[in-house]
Amino acid sequence: MFRHVHGKRVLVVTNDRVAPLYLDKTIDALTRGNPNVTVESVILPDGEKYKDMDTLMKVFDKAIESRLDRRCTFVALGGGVIGDMCGYAAASYLRGVNFIQIPTTVMAQVDSSVGGKTGINHRLGKNLIGAFYQPQCVLVDTDTLNTLPDREMASGLAEVIKYGLIRDAEFFEWQEKNIEALLARDPAALAFAIKRSCENKADVVSQDEKESGLRATLNLGHTFGHAIETGFGYGEWLHGEAVAAGTVMAVDMSYRLGWIDESIVKRVNKILVRAKLPTTPPESMTVSMFKSIMAVDKKVADGLLRLILLKGPLGNCVFTGDYDREALDATLRAFSKS
Ligand code: NAD
Repeated sequence: MFRHVHGKRVLVVTNDRVAPLYLDKTIDALTRGNPNVTVESVILPDGEKYKDMDTLMKVFDKAIESRLDRRCTFVALGGGVIGDMCGYAAASYLRGVNFIQIPTTVMAQVDSSVGGKTGINHRLGKNLIGAFYQPQCVLVDTDTLNTLPDREMASGLAEVIKYGLIRDAEFFEWQEKNIEALLARDPAALAFAIKRSCENKADVVSQDEKESGLRATLNLGHTFGHAIETGFGYGEWLHGEAVAAGTVMAVDMSYRLGWIDESIVKRVNKILVRAKLPTTPPESMTVSMFKSIMAVDKKVADGLLRLILLKGPLGNCVFTGDYDREALDATLRAFSKS
């Protein structure tokens, strides 16, 4: 791995759950055969609720106390929370240092480690503060998934299912046959799903890195999902769980608009249930909670909320603010208390 390290100093950013499992192995891999490299590490508290400015400062504290210079490399070892935070720290420390991702969750291996979006949450909204910053490389070791709790496994599959729905019908059909194998961590099934997901993501990002349009389609279900995460409290529901319920809502709205067949609604519900993911938001979510949180979504432009909705045969979607507001209201009413 050390050939990807520029300079002689490395800062591994990880958390108190992943560190006991993989920090020593990572340090070993970074230094083996490369005695000139010295490795520092910073172990953050685990969880989405720590994806904030205070916790980010601990990374800068460590880097500055260790006198790391511009030639250092930051390594993110963990799931999407660590990857997003470490990436944002790498983007801003000394205005940008080298950055490597070692994702250890399905979510991070199929989605968050690829594409260069980094950042932290604000108490008023998720991922509102951040930067586009590409890693030098992403190292995926699927063996790390063997220690991942079942709930986290399922959460990551929400993003895998997303790729099928927005642009890869063949992949969705493959998932319909293999979802149980993925949950059971079948190595061949996982390897295929991770590769196909990364190819889909890389293809989209290479056409629209800064999200002027196409890249936003990767956020199917995320506007509703972010509202759930923010409204319900970061960390109560896992990101993928919120995205799953959000996807059902986006699909419901697409159907109300007359843009997709009922068969797609049924297939989406079925695969999410089989993946052991939620298909409705938490009961405490109200229409007004959804509305007020969705109003600060990053996809609001000139006061208009743009959404990713399915349109046409399976595998097709649109990113648009041009929809009947009544359909959105009807979906919100159908899925939450008024
Ligand atoms: P996470 O980082 O919180 O990881 C989930 C849990 O699993 C944590 O408790 C973590 O410590 C633990 N864990 C990680 N690897 C483990 C392993 N191998 N064995 C045992 N436990 C392990 O959550 P996540 O689902 O990986 O990522 C969610 C985050 O990713 C959200 O903050 C979301 O906004 C972000 N995200 C970013 C992008 C992007 O493009 N940057 C895309 C999707 C999601």
